[in-house]
Amino acid sequence: MKDWTTVLKAADAAARWHVHQRRKGAAQEPYMNHLLEVASLVADATHGQDPELVIAALLHDAIEDQGVPSELIAREFGNKVAEIVVEVTDDKSLDKAERKRLQVEHAPQKSNAAKIIKLADKTSNVRAIAFAPSPDWSVKRRLDYIDWAKKVVQGLRGTSPWLEAQFDRAVEDAERSLAVPRSRT
Ligand code: ZN
Repeated sequence: MKDWTTVLKAADAAARWHVHQRRKGAAQEPYMNHLLEVASLVADATHGQDPELVIAALLHDAIEDQGVPSELIAREFGNKVAEIVVEVTDDKSLDKAERKRLQVEHAPQKSNAAKIIKLADKTSNVRAIAFAPSPDWSVKRRLDYIDWAKKVVQGLRGTSPWLEAQFDRAVEDAERSLAVPRSRT
């Protein structure tokens, strides 16, 4: 099967698997918007040369958020794609604070493929804080998320300068969006 045909097949599977999931922003965007943004960043970062990584990017939250079995991903899209998706999936049996701590700790040991997806994922999520924040997230919660994402990304650096620059710009935008306006007096 041609690469681009398989990429579309993965997008189609992702759209169906995440059909009821929404992003946290006020617009309640379909979750697919996030998956396409991450996949598009990964495609750009790899100059369109790595279709399997783009497929893994489209499916990166399928196990974590929808409990899609890794065997199903392996059967449909191959073992390599399934392995990458497993590598970017948090262990949901742990509590949230522990999962967040482990993301920081494990980031430097991840494969190059997993690091690229994680960089794109954090970029998409931090962009959302700047441009489509959740109405339920306080300023502190948004600042805490940005600080944590920066710590994870610290362990992913040296992988894709372009993607790391996209992340840094997203952080700047998000931090600017949260700055208290200066008084004119
Ligand atoms: Zn994600």
